Amino acid sequence: MSFEELGLSEDILKAIEECGYTEPTPIQAQAIPHVLMMRDLVGLAQTGTGKTAGFTLPMIEVLAGGRAKARMPRSLILEPTRELAAQVAENFDTYGKYSNLSKALLTGGTSLDEQIKKLDRGVDVLIATPGRLLDLFERGRILLTDIKILVIDEADRMLDMGFIPDIEKIVSLLPPMRQTLLFSATMPPEIKRLTTQFLNNPREVSVAAPASTAENVEQFLVWTHPKKKYDELESIIKSEDVKNAFIFCNRKKDIGGLATWLGKKGYNAKPLHGDMAQSARTQTLDDFKNDKITLLVCSDVAARGLDIKGMSHVFNFDVPMNPDDYVHRIGRTGRAGMDGRAWTLATKEEDKYIRQIEKRIKSSIPVFDGSKKTQHTTKDKHTTKDKKEPVTKSPVTKNKVQHVAEDKKQPHKKENPGKPQTEKPKKQDDRKRSDGGEFVTGFGEEVPPFFKGK
Ligand code: AMP
Repeated sequence: MSFEELGLSEDILKAIEECGYTEPTPIQAQAIPHVLMMRDLVGLAQTGTGKTAGFTLPMIEVLAGGRAKARMPRSLILEPTRELAAQVAENFDTYGKYSNLSKALLTGGTSLDEQIKKLDRGVDVLIATPGRLLDLFERGRILLTDIKILVIDEADRMLDMGFIPDIEKIVSLLPPMRQTLLFSATMPPEIKRLTTQFLNNPREVSVAAPASTAENVEQFLVWTHPKKKYDELESIIKSEDVKNAFIFCNRKKDIGGLATWLGKKGYNAKPLHGDMAQSARTQTLDDFKNDKITLLVCSDVAARGLDIKGMSHVFNFDVPMNPDDYVHRIGRTGRAGMDGRAWTLATKEEDKYIRQIEKRIKSSIPVFDGSKKTQHTTKDKHTTKDKKEPVTKSPVTKNKVQHVAEDKKQPHKKENPGKPQTEKPKKQDDRKRSDGGEFVTGFGEEVPPFFKGK
């Protein structure tokens, strides 16, 4: 299947070619024909699958030729966060380069005046977060009666963030005769309900099971004690070739402290969370994208869906309490066919969340084995000593580690620019777990205490 076969016009094909895309991704191949036929659509897809182009390309095609009246946009894309909205706007500019359509990005934290001026001139596409859109509507700056296409993106995250009442209000302001597209990485009952409420006889397309994790993301679990988490994290970072990484914290209040601590240790680390001023958030994100920042310490909300190419690592400083968040977090790495590595620090208190995650992803997260990590990540620097390390009997861990060690095509080979020094990592299997047990090399060899009797 090619983009030409999907029936997109010359202007769009030219823009796609300039992006270097040779063929549609599975979600694009499935979604684009339905959108072009003006059908309602439910897309079960995570970010990283190419879903943005899946709805943006046919939307540009459908809107091309028409013209928006002042304050009466013709299509509306709702996004849960400002960063995601900005990312979609960028995509729209890229794909619509030759299509002569106008857009406005309506998000909080940026100048209202600018947005109002744009709306007054007339825009074809509105890309908005729910709060700012309602604000502008209530000020009488915008009319939604000409909306022909509505996209509700990242619906499950909208739900998590408490936006559903806002979405319901927005939808009540739109004409009933419209096309509605809803995208979600998961389909909890509340979202299912919305699809029956807002969509008319929708087609469904799906590219990955909701609970699946990317195959090219290697996962590791490290049992630790709350008081040792900072040191543990640093030890892992030191032993890995970190090109760039997100470090997820569950609590906003921990983000600044951890970023500062890493900064003092000589790492190029910065915080990103929802309480920061929009200008600081945008600047931080730009710096991260431009490799000026190596480690971004962030919350789920701030990092949701951000498409940053070639991220080498994800670190879960805390175990996410919602298993979907685990899937989303580790999906930040291992994108576009590149290998990625996801490390999760877990304390005894968090074992219930780990078990929920493992149920969700339908596999166990390999428990980190210090000897293996040393072998494959620092082989150039510690060859002699490391070769003496014992070999695990855990088939899962062994295969994964050998795969990485032998993989000459690793995308993240370059020296870690945020790493202040090279130091041999601690051998964790020599240490005691916080709950008194030994560190284990895999579930096959030794059953962790938290598994016993449960
Ligand atoms: P998304 O899931 O929309 O966030 O897209 C993830 C990434 O895939 C973005 O960086 C896109 O530029 C890229 N992408 C989208 N469509 C294609 C395609 N057909 N071929 C290659 N890359 C693509």
